[in-house]
Amino acid sequence: MNLSDDISVLTGVGPKRAENLKELGIYTIEELLSYYPFRYDDIQEKELNEIQDQEKVTLKGLVVSEPVVSRYGYKKSRMMFRMMQDHAVINVSFFNQPYLKDKIVMSEEIAVYGKWDAKRKSLNGMKILAAQNDGEDFAPIYHVNKKVRQSSLIQLIRTGFEKYGNFIPEFLPETLVEKYRLMPRKEAMFAMHFPNNPEESHQAKRRVVFEEFFLFQLKMQGLKRREKAEKNGLSVQYDVDRLKTFTQKLPFELTDAQKKVTNEICRDLMSPNHMQRLLQGDVGSGKTVVAAIALYATMTAGFQGALMVPTEILAQQHMESLQQLYDPLEVRTALLTGSTKTKERRMILEQLATGEIDIIIGTHALIQEDVRFRRLGLVITDEQHRFGVNQRRILREKGLKPDVLFMTATPIPRTLAITAFGEMDVSIIDEMPAGRIPIETRWIRPPQLDTVLEWMEKELAHGHQAYVICPLIEESEALDVKNATEIFEHMSAFFNPTYQVGLLHGKMKNQEKEEIMQEFKENNLQLLVSTTVIEVGVNVPNATVMLIMDADRFGLAQLHQLRGRVGRGSEASYCILVANPKNEMGVERMKIMTETNNGFVLSEKDLELRGPGEVFGARQSGVPQFAVGDIVTDVNILEVARQEASTIWTKEQWWVLPEYRGIADKIKPNDDEQQFFD
Ligand code: ADP
Ligand code: MG
Repeated sequence: MNLSDDISVLTGVGPKRAENLKELGIYTIEELLSYYPFRYDDIQEKELNEIQDQEKVTLKGLVVSEPVVSRYGYKKSRMMFRMMQDHAVINVSFFNQPYLKDKIVMSEEIAVYGKWDAKRKSLNGMKILAAQNDGEDFAPIYHVNKKVRQSSLIQLIRTGFEKYGNFIPEFLPETLVEKYRLMPRKEAMFAMHFPNNPEESHQAKRRVVFEEFFLFQLKMQGLKRREKAEKNGLSVQYDVDRLKTFTQKLPFELTDAQKKVTNEICRDLMSPNHMQRLLQGDVGSGKTVVAAIALYATMTAGFQGALMVPTEILAQQHMESLQQLYDPLEVRTALLTGSTKTKERRMILEQLATGEIDIIIGTHALIQEDVRFRRLGLVITDEQHRFGVNQRRILREKGLKPDVLFMTATPIPRTLAITAFGEMDVSIIDEMPAGRIPIETRWIRPPQLDTVLEWMEKELAHGHQAYVICPLIEESEALDVKNATEIFEHMSAFFNPTYQVGLLHGKMKNQEKEEIMQEFKENNLQLLVSTTVIEVGVNVPNATVMLIMDADRFGLAQLHQLRGRVGRGSEASYCILVANPKNEMGVERMKIMTETNNGFVLSEKDLELRGPGEVFGARQSGVPQFAVGDIVTDVNILEVARQEASTIWTKEQWWVLPEYRGIADKIKPNDDEQQFFD
């Protein structure tokens, strides 16, 4: 018997059930036993007559009526059903959560947490809890779907432990288990599901988080070490004098921070080691020029450079910025995107292969199979979180061993960046070019919108332009477009015919988007209504107003990105947040936006308020995702894990030592990963 046994060896798991479990990512016994709950419900039942009016309680009972949803007003609804506890019938209502209806099943047990209304004998529901908790105080709650229910999953996990519990080996080195007084693996795994008390739960989690971070660090540091050790990386022997002349001719003096990161990058270029560097800098901190210098250096060494960006608009814009900085006789640039015409594309591919193009700028189009380089020496990707790891790897493999630079404006606190991106070096531009007028940020409530529009009219009358951002409605693309269209109509009605209003949204064809952007750039449109498609990169210095609708629906980092679209010229600029936050945290977030223009301060605050899951959600990742560990609240464990991993890597051939067998096994690379044990 082995933990890697297929889940179907358990009694009660037929082909159908196994199929359903796979949808949750559970294939093996080990995956079942480590499918941890995401929270626990603390259920303490009370007698109805013991409960005070307006007291928050959990009530448990049988559902005795079908749920009924009534809708009223805009986005408002109320869902009601009745449940029976002992012999009393209780009315339960939930406001504005109509989707909870599916969780109310006639004749099933249910536990509801809410506020008790003693007069009406009703419960104002806040949360539905698991009812199947066998009388335990802590009921584990799992992410499940319609086909796998909480109760049956719990049952299955128990069966799994009964059969396989004794086959859970410890794999962490004994020294570490002792040093940090970690709960043994077997006990910890069990207690993650069924803790007897909060302390046990805490200890189990501490052990599991350590294990998770430690293995991650061990692996990442292994990768980094191997990359570093490889002397067959490229040494880009750039021409120091030409590079100096180039930087001296720039239209501005580099900030100290830009100089510092440029030096770090150039050192990496010159060295025969392989560069894997993350360049972080707030919006507007001047990352583009740093990229331009690195690409220029690469060219003087006789290599080609590539700059990959996530959208066509951005590619176009980077192309323009680079061309302004370079002397066209000296640097041959080209643009390759999805909409490059076939004939032109063919020519570009040919020139890339022969080396007639020095620097190519483009989108995903750069990583198509038929794109070949003569001597690719440097790959830069902008807004790295938008590209998958694979896409980055493909581009990298087009060169011999090109150096790689990732640029991002997502400001991740330094300590976090260093620890979380175990395999990369980090450079940070922590200073803005001098002479910027700080953007003034105001927060208003929706009823004040018209007053703001009147004020905006005056801004436009000064010859300036403005953005209006509508929130992306994730659940429905159709709703999203509808919403943007409505706002567009409202704006048009207000500003026409004196000013022209344009609309940009995700459903539009690339070419259409491009045209609208161009119109806005040329000031044929004064106002641009848009969903967040403009979030990254666009540069229209004449735009001085950024109006963000439903601002509380955005993350702080995103709001900050959007705000960075203005304040790019020499004129005073404004960011107006329109929001009616529903809770204290929302209010706090709007306030902090008005108080600071510093992306790093904001990101720390955002992490504190919302946690990394929300901040670096799956969608805009780049930051590794952990199953249990939280890189912010568990940052101490992360740091310890990092140190311990690095100590182990200082030992010669540690993976052959008996003590480390277990962990070496655990981090053994897959076939498609490169070997680093040698
Ligand atoms: P980022 O990509 O980091 O958001 P950009 O590279 O687009 O920022 O730079 C924003 C603006 O600042 C550009 O117009 C650029 O020309 C200008 N800029 C960059 N570095 C400096 C500097 N050292 N001094 C003055 N202006 C600068
Ligand atoms: Mg940029």
